[in-house]
Amino acid sequence: MEMRKPNPDAIARCIRKARTIAVVSHVNPDGDTLGSATAMRLILQKMGKEAALFCDGKIPDQLAFLPGAETFRVPTGAEGPFDLMLAVDVSDVKRMGCCALLMERSAKTAQIDHHPTNPLFMETNSVDGDAPATCMMIREQMKTLGVEMDRDIAVCLYTGISTDTGNYAFSCTNAKAFRLTGELMEHHLPLAELNRILFRVKSREQIRLLGKALQSLTFRGKGRIAVMKLTLRDFAACGALSEHADTIVNYGMDTQGTEMAVLARESEDGNVKFSLRAKEPRQVDEIAAAFGGGGHPQASGITMEGTLDEAVEKVVCAMEKYLDETGRQE
Ligand code: 5GP
Ligand code: MN
Repeated sequence: MEMRKPNPDAIARCIRKARTIAVVSHVNPDGDTLGSATAMRLILQKMGKEAALFCDGKIPDQLAFLPGAETFRVPTGAEGPFDLMLAVDVSDVKRMGCCALLMERSAKTAQIDHHPTNPLFMETNSVDGDAPATCMMIREQMKTLGVEMDRDIAVCLYTGISTDTGNYAFSCTNAKAFRLTGELMEHHLPLAELNRILFRVKSREQIRLLGKALQSLTFRGKGRIAVMKLTLRDFAACGALSEHADTIVNYGMDTQGTEMAVLARESEDGNVKFSLRAKEPRQVDEIAAAFGGGGHPQASGITMEGTLDEAVEKVVCAMEKYLDETGRQE
């Protein structure tokens, strides 16, 4: 069986052989997948390649500043053919959404990812479950490809590293993340401006939606699980989009006494999308996997069919059972 390991040499061989490359980000795109893809586009252009960016869904307004973000397209099936398809920060095939159709339009497929649950679904896989962000792997990839850092690439990589580490605060943050950020600073990284855009500025829609979510906050599992829900009606009342809910789960997590937090939101396609979070040593990845989701030990997600209340009940009951069982072991 193929092992999960970083393999920049194998990716470099794929890239060198290709002329046209489709770079793919995951659905509900975040700073790491978009930072990785936009950096990759700049890197490939420096190598004289033709790179096209794809994502199934809208690029969040907050991340529209990324160089090349305006070139992302949702594939229709008419694109290509490509010599290579390269997925970045995509933990499984489902997370590509409709971009999966590009696999048939590409002679070769490859991926760079840092999710420990990645089932190695491409022909060539470079997967490092210990990397705090895919953007950190992109830096290593640049070295293998012999491409120099510049300010635009630094902006892309900083976006992925800072967002996936919770602005250098999550336990995944390591010395390498700081060292690499030091290197990015040497390329005139606009740190204060990026921090404002990425971590402070909220739209009015986001603030209104936060109010709705906080109103819905309840505590389960003897007070150890914070639960928030957002209905389509809530989104409509706030004039908000799904992306505006992306960091709200943290308020549940930041409430004293909380060990695990859930934010469940109804989405336009009729599914319920869950954001699950846990404080170490608690873990949510296996709970997410049990419902067809996945992610990291302390931050996972699920997309599930069913009504909001029923779906929440199923997931929260599984979390309560987990806390009862792990609680007994201590
Ligand atoms: P978030 O709650 O921020 O949307 O996602 C947290 C983590 O869970 C991310 O690393 C993401 O890759 C993963 N994740 C989110 N939603 C899903 C999903 O529906 N399926 C899977 N497999 N992973 C998800
Ligand atoms: Mn990531």
